[in-house]
Amino acid sequence: MKSGESAQHGQLHGNKPAGGLEQGDMLNRYGELRKQLAHIGPVCNGTVMSVYRKCGKPNCGCKESEQMQHGPYHIWTRKENGKTVTRSLSEKQARLCSRYIENFKKMESVIEKMKKLTIQVIERQK
Ligand SMILES: [Zn+2]
Repeated sequence: MKSGESAQHGQLHGNKPAGGLEQGDMLNRYGELRKQLAHIGPVCNGTVMSVYRKCGKPNCGCKESEQMQHGPYHIWTRKENGKTVTRSLSEKQARLCSRYIENFKKMESVIEKMKKLTIQVIERQK
């Protein structure tokens, strides 16, 4: 017979935490999030990597030393309809692209908050 286990399982969670958001507050909060979304610039997905490469010429220094390798080359990979698409970007494109990817992450995190708020609103409906 097990005696170590207590009756914790049956413990009640108690009342809902006080100070929860009222519906009006939620709608205000939602409006704020929507404003945040409106201010996010262009978005795109994927990752940008900067890589160095060997050129393969027999008498080039890159063959011997990593410091002599060529680059950086900026490579953008993203998923499109389930396929990985790879592009090489100029320095300037890479900078823009990285910024737009950051924007997308911001957008996603705002949308995540919106979803959570909406769930709370639904759960409060009777
Ligand atoms: Zn080389």
